[in-house]
Amino acid sequence: AKYTGTDRSREHSPSLDATAQHHAELAAALRRGLELGEFRLLYQPIVELPTGALSGVEALIRWHPSDRPVISPAEFIPVAEHSGLIIDLGAWIIDQACTDAATWQDRHGTAPRVNINVSARQLLDPSLPPLVADTLHRHGLTPESITIEITETAVFAGGAALETVRELRELGVGLALDDFGTGHSSLTLLRTCPVTTLKVDKSFIDDLNGTAEQEAIASSLSTIASTLGLRAVAEGVETRDQVDRLHALGYRYAQGYYFARPIPAEEIDALLNTPIPT
Ligand code: C2E
Ligand code: CA
Ligand code: CA
Ligand code: CA
Repeated sequence: AKYTGTDRSREHSPSLDATAQHHAELAAALRRGLELGEFRLLYQPIVELPTGALSGVEALIRWHPSDRPVISPAEFIPVAEHSGLIIDLGAWIIDQACTDAATWQDRHGTAPRVNINVSARQLLDPSLPPLVADTLHRHGLTPESITIEITETAVFAGGAALETVRELRELGVGLALDDFGTGHSSLTLLRTCPVTTLKVDKSFIDDLNGTAEQEAIASSLSTIASTLGLRAVAEGVETRDQVDRLHALGYRYAQGYYFARPIPAEEIDALLNTPIPT
């Protein structure tokens, strides 16, 4: 049939096809990558202020395809979600994080609490809580060994997501609300969602350059956390000046390039007995 669209849509539809095809290829490559063992978890320290003691680590995934440079999760996690592969990939992530936690525990008699990111699609899967329980059990870990990081968007993705979150909390694992403050209903969520930790989004930390408004917001977010008996973790801390201000505003936990980038599991070993200088 002869194409009758406008010039604009004529330009648009081949590129949509190209995007769809790119996604399909990426999804197939991801599945192969999972079979071939091309994924790695890195761990970014979460430190206690002002001592710099290692409080926990956040597991952050990387993909190293054999034929291409490393691909960032921002690019492939959405594709993994859309294609459903996130269920299998997510199971691998939970297992790998627990493997590393058990190794730290064996070697040092102690392990930092491991934060594991889960996406919307995983929260819609009712088998997530039993999978988490089983994985902890297989590795001989207590539920307190891990914290599941969720986002507001993921919790609001459907009614079942909130139920999954509650079941996870009932297991005894920690629950962190990621990118806190960036959604539309962050405060509403605190009434219904049994979180233990607020991860205050980098955008609130970036502008902590002494303007009264920025300080007031960052300070309120930490006050909300402490009033509710939750931990607040400042995300994306990059400078010494931010560290000083956060400490003055009552933050006890922080994460960011100032302290450490995401690093391989073996490099976390070295930190287990040595505080990171603040
Ligand atoms: P996120 O969960 O908000 O993770 C924080 C991101 O900020 C990470 O990017 C981390 O490397 C980066 N970051 C940490 N400190 C700093 C800093 O001081 N400055 C700056 N500019 N960035 C900092 P990354 O590793 O590229 O991950 C991006 C996103 O991909 C994550 O955002 C998360 O949404 C998703 N992701 C990563 N790993 C996983 C995973 O295992 N499962 C799932 N479902 N999603 C993941
Ligand atoms: Ca996170
Ligand atoms: Ca975050
Ligand atoms: Ca984020």
